[in-house]
Amino acid sequence: MLEILRRIVQEVNSAPDLRDALNLMARRVRDAMGTEVCSIYLLDDGGQRYVLMASEGLKSEAVGNVSMSLNEGLIGFVGAREEPLNLEDAFAHPKFLYLEETGEDPFHAFLGVPVIHHKKVLGVLVIQQRETRRFDQSEEAFLVTISAQLSAVVAHARATGGLAAIDSHAGAAPAFFDGLVGAGGAGIGQAVLLYPPADLNAVPDRIAEDANVEIAMLDRALIQARTEVRALAEQAGKTLGKEEQALFEVYIRMLDRHALAAEVVEKIREGNWVQGALRIVIDEHVRNFEMMEDPYLRERAADVRDLGRRVLAHLQTGERKQQDFPEACVLLGDEITTPMLMEVPRECIQGIATTRGSRNSHMAIVARAMGIPTVVGAHTLPLKQMDGREIIVDAFRGRIIANAGVELKHQFQQIIREEETLLEGLEKLRDLPAETQDGVRVPLMVNTGLMTDISRSIERGAEGVGLYRTEIPFMVRERFPSEEEQRVIYREQLLAFSPNSVTMRTLDVGGDKNLPYFPIEEENPFLGWRGIRMTLDHPEIFQVQIRAMLKASEGLDNLRIMLPMVTSVFEAEEAQHLIHRAWAEVRNEGIEVVMPPIGVMVEVPAVVYQTRAFAQRVDFLSIGTNDLTQYLLAVDRNNRQVAELYNSFHPAVLHAIMSVVEQAHDEGKEVSVCGEMAGDPASALMLLAMGVDALSMNATNLLKVKSAIRSVKITFLRKLLSEIMAMDNAEVITAYVDLQLEKAGLGYLLTHRRKVV
Ligand code: PEP
Ligand code: MG
Repeated sequence: MLEILRRIVQEVNSAPDLRDALNLMARRVRDAMGTEVCSIYLLDDGGQRYVLMASEGLKSEAVGNVSMSLNEGLIGFVGAREEPLNLEDAFAHPKFLYLEETGEDPFHAFLGVPVIHHKKVLGVLVIQQRETRRFDQSEEAFLVTISAQLSAVVAHARATGGLAAIDSHAGAAPAFFDGLVGAGGAGIGQAVLLYPPADLNAVPDRIAEDANVEIAMLDRALIQARTEVRALAEQAGKTLGKEEQALFEVYIRMLDRHALAAEVVEKIREGNWVQGALRIVIDEHVRNFEMMEDPYLRERAADVRDLGRRVLAHLQTGERKQQDFPEACVLLGDEITTPMLMEVPRECIQGIATTRGSRNSHMAIVARAMGIPTVVGAHTLPLKQMDGREIIVDAFRGRIIANAGVELKHQFQQIIREEETLLEGLEKLRDLPAETQDGVRVPLMVNTGLMTDISRSIERGAEGVGLYRTEIPFMVRERFPSEEEQRVIYREQLLAFSPNSVTMRTLDVGGDKNLPYFPIEEENPFLGWRGIRMTLDHPEIFQVQIRAMLKASEGLDNLRIMLPMVTSVFEAEEAQHLIHRAWAEVRNEGIEVVMPPIGVMVEVPAVVYQTRAFAQRVDFLSIGTNDLTQYLLAVDRNNRQVAELYNSFHPAVLHAIMSVVEQAHDEGKEVSVCGEMAGDPASALMLLAMGVDALSMNATNLLKVKSAIRSVKITFLRKLLSEIMAMDNAEVITAYVDLQLEKAGLGYLLTHRRKVV
């Protein structure tokens, strides 16, 4: 059964559109289950009626024409109950609705299961049979399993179905693809797909301007690929037997202009460009081989794929740099690397959207620093179909919109304009203090990592660095930077912000932050060898970093050192010991620096319960709300599936922060916040009310937070805080805070929760 299931899902996944996918699904499920009817009903766009979308066994005229309302018939009943319904005789059920046009008179046995994706009923999958009998347990289990697997396909196909419709009629519904916010904002532009070279799957379809030019390119690439394979065959001849060598002969024959290539030429003549045509032909052959029962023939799929890749590589040589980018473009990719990003002129980029990647990928960090609205991890985004279309990146809410239509596009244009005007208007606050109307002041610091962060931060009037992510300069290199290289980089930060303090965090890799030259492969990286756990195991790396920091602070003495991912007191003590040793070494070398304050990040729930013990040992604490929220709520911060559950206004998170602030203050130690919460105006106000001593955030948000603080009184904030601390529901708290701030005239700052559509 598993094998059948795998094959059905694979086939359905590669269907070109929703209609084909559903037809295929109905046919395959009916055959696999040996029943007479399999039908699929889907909710229409308005979510008001179930429409018969595909059927094997019912009258074909009924498909697309028969529908029923939400509480009509057995279909409505299955959808409403969200449970399977297994009936020996459907006619005998009180909910049964007879629809003559379906031709279901002869079929008595009925099994219907809901198709549910992310809690939402999308439709109902039904099998029927003449015989009056109950389907058995294993049949029911199979249909439930297939429905669960296929719900994602349906959800995806529905979204892309909206896209396919754009070609056939104007005014098709907008299609939304959810992801995670990589860098806030919104942008509109023509989608340009960036893809790694020699990756056939990544190649989009494009219209060829001149078929003959494309065919000439193909011929050239074929000649080059044949030469390459001949050389390989020669090489292999020295070590392999006759049989293996014969394989190369097959390869060379396949590369002949009359074999695979003839099919590619045909596709080019139909209008596709050479790379797209090659992908289609190779895909077809790979699929045919993969479907074969014989394992030997099934393996040939890999050979065809390899050939395709070789030809593609030759087609792509030198192509990239010639790419002309539209004036306003949104870059799309499975994963866009920083070098890929750098190939595109900055002024053209209105947004970035990727299907994979995380908030902490290097590209996302760069995008934040460059102020490019970015959505990552939108895994349902059909990249190839998007290529060339106008799309909107809504990085306020973390989604991509295609087929936006005039109205929606207009709303976004307005939002983008308002945002620009807002930021320009806030520039006058640059040199004013972040102080409430009744005189409570809090330093606003920045989170940095890239060199470009320095100037942006100073432009916005940052009062120091609350978090310098040292892993970022490590990420762009091909090996660990030397002590001297590090010293130079750190010195630049310390000098730029002097006499204000710069809090440097020791190397925080692991989790979703990997160094290309130091891969950490773990089943469960967020609970693994991260941050201080790794550096304490590698004192040679830790010591070099600390020495570089200390030397960099010579004559400035504005350095503070902070330890990430600390869980137990002994980790802080061990790190302190190593830092003292490094300090002694540096002074022995004749460099006079003061011992910097040492602090820990509060990111792991264990520290919340031991704040006092930590506060007694270190000089300051800084709450990393990104990880603290992730670990308290057990929600992976990069997993789109559970993104709705990730909310720093969850009462558990708020109470944890409050408790850390109180305990640290009882011990006379300062607490700051350096997670994303600090840069969100509404959250920042609540943190201020809790008594947090400093807020550290992305430079982009600094003036917004300052504006929020300067617009309110602390008495108002404390009252609001005491109200929300008594609430037990994150959604209610979020809505309540928004409402109160809106009433207080701060609605203009709540862009992150903008409700469009
Ligand atoms: C945090 O976890 O809140 C934090 C600031 O660290 P990072 O986002 O770099 O993990
Ligand atoms: Mg963290």
